[in-house]
Amino acid sequence: MTNIMPAPAPKPWIMGIAPYTPGRSTTDDGRKVIKLSSNENPLGTSPAAKAAFDGADRTLERYPDAGAVELREALAAQYDLDPARVIYGTGSDEILHLVAGAYAGPGDEIIHVRYGFAVYEIATRRVGAEPVIVDDRDYATDVDAILAAVTERTRVVFVANPNNPTGTFTPRAEIARLHAGLPRSVLLVIDQAYAEYLSPEEDDAGLALAMTEANVLVTRTFSKIHGLAAERIGWGYACAPIIDAMHRIRAPFNVTTAGQAAAVAALADTGFVDATRAHNDTWRGWFVEQIGQMGNAGLRCVPSKANFVLVLFEGNLTADAAYHGLMEAGYIVRWLPSQGLPNALRITIGTEEETRGVTAALRDLVERA
Ligand SMILES: *Cc1c(COP(=O)(O)O)cnc(C)c1O
Repeated sequence: MTNIMPAPAPKPWIMGIAPYTPGRSTTDDGRKVIKLSSNENPLGTSPAAKAAFDGADRTLERYPDAGAVELREALAAQYDLDPARVIYGTGSDEILHLVAGAYAGPGDEIIHVRYGFAVYEIATRRVGAEPVIVDDRDYATDVDAILAAVTERTRVVFVANPNNPTGTFTPRAEIARLHAGLPRSVLLVIDQAYAEYLSPEEDDAGLALAMTEANVLVTRTFSKIHGLAAERIGWGYACAPIIDAMHRIRAPFNVTTAGQAAAVAALADTGFVDATRAHNDTWRGWFVEQIGQMGNAGLRCVPSKANFVLVLFEGNLTADAAYHGLMEAGYIVRWLPSQGLPNALRITIGTEEETRGVTAALRDLVERA
């Protein structure tokens, strides 16, 4: 066999990217187990969204609606937005990449927090820009640290609210202070992938800022509370020039026909969204209380407003041992040493049975440690 050497060289900044690690759904030995590693909706998908997906036009040779007109209009009606200023993506991940591509390149800087969403660094490096990683304040977003990191080369700031993987929430006044402290030339991206898990009065007013400010982009997704992760649908809202710039580089038919139909129906099913939020409030509360009882064993929850909790292991039982022990017991959670969190597990709130089960398994490991 002949080796074809050397292969063409990718841009050097591409080889500096550590590939995204998805949440796993099988154990090391290939057993299928309960997956609490990707913040998916344990209640599934709205039945109406499923029906719309199943009933969508199956003319497979036709491209989807490139303008996602019905979806943009449904979003605009629900959130009182201008449909012309709604961008849509193959997941909100695509929108994060679009914004980095439109606003940054070699020589530029993009700021995100140390324990932030892994895609920010990938999107930054992909365009040859430099990630500037700022310290947290006890795992939460530190607005002062972000503002202190701004230089004349800063182009974009990525903030997830609530944040992943920490679950922490930056209140409205802090988001307003962050925006007010940034130069107008810096684009503030508020990633609201988990916003629907907040109660309405907790809203961080990101969308209100995006309505009136020229340097704010809000991103949302149908993957989390709406339970449509498989279809890859995200959206964003910003002023017209930002939307125009992103449209120039997005993939032309980036949301599928069935996905658009499912998303429109999911949006209308507010009952399903409310039931999911209520379920999450109840079982996240219960879970946090149970972990609190393991405090003397060194377990501690970072305060979460999302559908997952970051549990810190500061006693005899290490996060590494707990991760493998839970896998043995049939639960896959997220251990994040690659994100600088070797002492923590991110655990998605599952069904009642799953949440009780993973808690009992954890208690067992604590008692045996
Ligand atoms: C899950 C997640 C997203 C992206 O989800 P998509 O499926 O691409 O829409 C974006 N940001 C954060 C913080 C997330 O956790």
